Amino acid sequence: MPLIKSNVHTHTTFCDGKNTMEEMVQAAIAAGFDTLGLSFHSYTAFDPSYCIRDYLAYMKEFERLKAKYADKIYLLNGVELDLYGERPSVCDYVIGSVHYLKEDGRYYPVDHSARGFKMLVDRVYAGDCYAAAERFFAEVKELAQNVRPDVFGHFDLITCFNSEGFFSEEDARYKRAALSAAENLSPGSVVEINLGRVFRGTGGMYPSPWLVRELNARGCRFMLSSDAHKCEALGYMFDETCRQLKSLGVRSLVRYKGKELVDIEL
Ligand SMILES: [Zn+2]
Ligand SMILES: [Zn+2]
Repeated sequence: MPLIKSNVHTHTTFCDGKNTMEEMVQAAIAAGFDTLGLSFHSYTAFDPSYCIRDYLAYMKEFERLKAKYADKIYLLNGVELDLYGERPSVCDYVIGSVHYLKEDGRYYPVDHSARGFKMLVDRVYAGDCYAAAERFFAEVKELAQNVRPDVFGHFDLITCFNSEGFFSEEDARYKRAALSAAENLSPGSVVEINLGRVFRGTGGMYPSPWLVRELNARGCRFMLSSDAHKCEALGYMFDETCRQLKSLGVRSLVRYKGKELVDIEL
């Protein structure tokens, strides 16, 4: 059994996930979870390619599965709300995420492809990756002030394609922008340790280890998160990541157990 028995960052075929909601629920039960949160991508009219399309059908299926599997797992109805997305009228929790840089009324995705990211940096920021990072973290600050999510999603997603060497996290400008967003968080804010990229094999966890230390020093709390787009991602590397976090000085994590947020000692 894993130490952390829940995940609340879960996508399904109702948005850009590869598995149905029921397949994800069954996979979570098989993984030994007692709680699973479903979190569709909020609707963004400027980019409907990856987000929720049929909210009513989604809710109907959620209620059906919640009742069907009630004796095996507790299901939470959440959302991954983009800074520029539409907030659903009812939900159990909100993961707040920045996926786009907004410039001159246009929205540019930062995580669609490395090629797309390079084009964005070249065209909008004249090749200056650090200017893109500064804009990204300014939006993370906006998220904290205006959206006030229950959980902050992939805090440094701007590093998405950095295995291709776009910029250095050691750079003073980058550090200043990231730390400014970290300092802007209220004490006790919950930041997810997002393992989506680890599962895909294209990089490490979000946030980067140095930033986890900085957030930890500023009193943030952390929640493990699969950001699962398929069944196999649920709980992937959870125990290993717990050990890594402990070595970074993190003493405990929070997780949803049913509707409650509980502390788990590492
Ligand atoms: Zn996301
Ligand atoms: Zn996600």
